[in-house]
Amino acid sequence: MNRVDYLRISLIDRCNFRCQYCLPEGAELDYILRQELLTHEEIMTLLKEVFIPLGFSKFRLTGGEPLLRPGIVDLVTDIASLPAIEDLSMTTNGFLLSSLAKDLYQAGLKRINVSLDSLNADTFKTIIGHKKADLWHQTWLGIQTAYEVGFDPLKLNVVVIPGVNETEIEALAALSINKNWHIRFIEFMPIGNAGLFSDRAWVPSEEIREKIRQKWGLIESNIKGNGPADVFKIPGAKGTLGFISQMSECFCDRCNRMRLSADGWLRPCLLNETGQIDLKKLLRNGIKTTEIKEKVAQLLVIKPDINYKQRDSGNDTGIYNRTMSQIGG
Ligand code: SAM
Ligand code: SF4
Repeated sequence: MNRVDYLRISLIDRCNFRCQYCLPEGAELDYILRQELLTHEEIMTLLKEVFIPLGFSKFRLTGGEPLLRPGIVDLVTDIASLPAIEDLSMTTNGFLLSSLAKDLYQAGLKRINVSLDSLNADTFKTIIGHKKADLWHQTWLGIQTAYEVGFDPLKLNVVVIPGVNETEIEALAALSINKNWHIRFIEFMPIGNAGLFSDRAWVPSEEIREKIRQKWGLIESNIKGNGPADVFKIPGAKGTLGFISQMSECFCDRCNRMRLSADGWLRPCLLNETGQIDLKKLLRNGIKTTEIKEKVAQLLVIKPDINYKQRDSGNDTGIYNRTMSQIGG
């Protein structure tokens, strides 16, 4: 059984982008009210008195868009200063990074993943659902700034969408050649945007690898991260290429993580709501953190069965109602 020591913390469900695969156009989402978000203090209490004592040592801040969270730099400072933190990272769309990267780095954030699905400003517009404004250049500046202030390696997340950015696989992979950038290709999952998901809505990782192999060759890398990516390298490249193949290869048996939503639900499996606990309610009802810790410990015990529930029910190609931005991707 895999040790579960990695928590993904969603800080906010709102976002300044509306990526086609995450926040479908026109969808009316019930955003979490501000007073329902876990507060800075509640997050710190949960980390100090529940998760760290249970052996969690790796934390990723995500959302929605985590950089929209008021007080983000102070929160990073406080989390980074906790003893027993082995790894503190963030996943962001990068739009606000050019002004925040330096402060985040100095606050103690050491690793960052930026989502970038295209190098073409027009394709980018289509993907992120802002037809008028050119947000690509600002995002690209954010990525460059993050690298310059010291986020090294820098990871870029690419969701490959057939017919949209499939032709850019080689150009995006090439970003790993001259700099220590890790490009991670993610298979699109049928979460949230049912309309986009058809028979050919995702590109299998092996198909992506084959394109890269044809152009440069591809070797397996022995670098392993916290996550489910299979890591490869273009021969002679400074950076790496990761492949996250949740659609073509189930990696539930390697799962080492839980997710905490912005309104305090602890979720043991991304694709499955079984067993989730409303930690905010427990905290706000005055339940002692020793008791909350006991409940989370029990959830850890049954997590392996929950991981497989979706698969076993034969529903693993179903469409899940909550979007990634709501769950905390
Ligand atoms: N807003 C931040 C960002 O975009 O990086 C953080 C939250 S976002 C939900 C986290 C990651 O989930 C992104 O890399 C995004 O590409 C990915 N994602 C969102 N919806 C997805 C889907 N349906 N399938 C696969 N990946 C998805
Ligand atoms: Fe926002 Fe990230 Fe979802 Fe795109 S993937 S809509 S940037 S939360």
